[in-house]
Amino acid sequence: MIFRTLVVSLASGLFLSGAVTAQQQVLNLYSSRHYQSDEILYANFTKATGIKVNRIDGKEDELIQRIRREGSASPADVFITVDAANLQAADDAGFFVSINSTLIRDRIPIQFRGTDDRWFGFSYRARTIFYNVDKVNPADVQNYADLADPKFMGRVCVRSGGHVYNRSLMASIIYNHGNDKALSWARGVVSNLARAPKGGDTDQIRAVAAGECDLALSNHYYFARLMASDKPADQEVVRRVGIVFPDQNGKGTHVNISGGGMLKTAPNKVAAQKFLEYLTSDEAQFYFANGNNEWPVVRSAKPNNPYLEKLGGFKVDGLRAGALAQYSPKAQQFIDQAGWR
Ligand code: FE
Repeated sequence: MIFRTLVVSLASGLFLSGAVTAQQQVLNLYSSRHYQSDEILYANFTKATGIKVNRIDGKEDELIQRIRREGSASPADVFITVDAANLQAADDAGFFVSINSTLIRDRIPIQFRGTDDRWFGFSYRARTIFYNVDKVNPADVQNYADLADPKFMGRVCVRSGGHVYNRSLMASIIYNHGNDKALSWARGVVSNLARAPKGGDTDQIRAVAAGECDLALSNHYYFARLMASDKPADQEVVRRVGIVFPDQNGKGTHVNISGGGMLKTAPNKVAAQKFLEYLTSDEAQFYFANGNNEWPVVRSAKPNNPYLEKLGGFKVDGLRAGALAQYSPKAQQFIDQAGWR
């Protein structure tokens, strides 16, 4: 009896010391993403490396405020969020540190890497045009410029101009077409509005289906979510609305990223680099991109997503994500000048 107790306590002692070792290898991840497939991704990372992922989920502004407040004492190792302009803002605030990784440089195209490899995109999304299939000929809305065409007066729905999705699109238009065309495009869109900007991207798509407007701008994945929904009302929206990947005969469709970087103050820099490198593996790319029906940035990684397959392939505007961020202040200035609230 005594012997058995000894064996048990020895065994549990061994187990405990194993747990302690595992606890020493941690990664503190601050993320504004929260998709179920991310859980699988983190679990696989832990399985592959023994590094435990501590997740702090929150809205992006809250996380940014938190990192700022925590300062050099911040436990954050990696910060993950959406949109190049947001990543660049975090970089401008001095949050990120360069990562020297041949693996990351080889796997992530330069278009999706920030200045000096201080942040990276891991998946990308497209800003697309949606139209009412009964009222609009898709041939008439093949370009972003068409949204500003006076023939669509009073027929366009779009969320607020100050939202980062529209600001980054605007930045790409400034870069691709110059200041004058960009400003007049914003003015044209504003004069075509069916209603004052309100709601998120999904609300714009729903408004097209409901007949409140005939055209809308939205990121593609909001539509993919509706495609994936088993609610009859959502299926009805999908039936009434068509999608266009704009500017296929020009620069290509504007895309933005979900991504992240390592914090300058990261207490676990080795783990952080391993994690970011892991995100470029084909396996992690699949989960990261599919969590939000986005495309993986790594070319060898296949999305294997039925909704994306249905949407089809398209020409991507090759503008560097960093340039979007660079033109973001000017974009906001034009949005304000155009009265796009
Ligand atoms: Fe979104």
